[in-house]
Amino acid sequence: MCIRAHGLTKRYGGKTAVDGLSFSVQPGVITGFLGPNGAGKSTTLRMLLGLIRPTQGAITIGGRPIAELEHPARTIGALLDARAVHPQRTAYDHLLAFAHAAGLGKARVDKMLDLAGLSNAATSRPDQFSLGMYQRLGLATALLGDPDVLVLDEPLNGLDPEGIRWMRSLMRSLASKGRTILFSSHLMSEMEITADNLIVIGNGRLIADSSLAEFIKAH
Ligand code: ADP
Ligand code: ADP
Repeated sequence: MCIRAHGLTKRYGGKTAVDGLSFSVQPGVITGFLGPNGAGKSTTLRMLLGLIRPTQGAITIGGRPIAELEHPARTIGALLDARAVHPQRTAYDHLLAFAHAAGLGKARVDKMLDLAGLSNAATSRPDQFSLGMYQRLGLATALLGDPDVLVLDEPLNGLDPEGIRWMRSLMRSLASKGRTILFSSHLMSEMEITADNLIVIGNGRLIADSSLAEFIKAH
């Protein structure tokens, strides 16, 4: 499924966080969303997920406005602020709550714990987790519904080298299955090792939208 944003704008009071962004994100490849801190990445991703409302502009996923998606949890998965999980709920219970909300059962939870390398931490509470473990739990949550579209905000943040390899290979294997993957980072080095295509923003505006190779050639 293709994500399309057209003229996307978000103002907070007098401050324009996202300013007329238009882009599309293709399935089957990994698209990186690059920009310095404060550029408007999180605000954009939250609008793509329907968590905040654009001041102006339109978004479609697979040709439909997000409000009209039939099975949101099975269409789009999100890894946002990994630390936003309930600190006192075990990893297992956290996943089970999201699974139930999406109409899924325990078998899927076990599968995701295994995929995330968290089977041994299933009964641990996230307040004992490292940031890397939060990221793993966040990705397991995002993938519960086997969504077509995956939106990840700074997913490599806090991961150790082994965790980075794990996250990258998972993103790669999902892309090769035809999923649509959009991940943000403020680091070009993370784009270079992970992304096929790049969307670059600064001050809420589009700076570049091309393949990684073209972007490197031009800069
Ligand atoms: P990034 O994810 O690229 O670091 P953000 O989308 O978080 O950027 O923020 C873009 C701009 O919008 C920043 O100047 C930030 O301070 C501002 N901003 C983000 N969220 C809010 C909010 N809820 N209220 C007011 N300003 C906000
Ligand atoms: P709360 O229970 O405090 O309302 P949230 O529901 O906002 O918290 O988020 C709890 C956790 O679930 C966070 O880690 C967040 O990243 C994750 N999350 C939120 N929305 C989604 C979603 N659509 N798909 C997958 N994970 C999500």
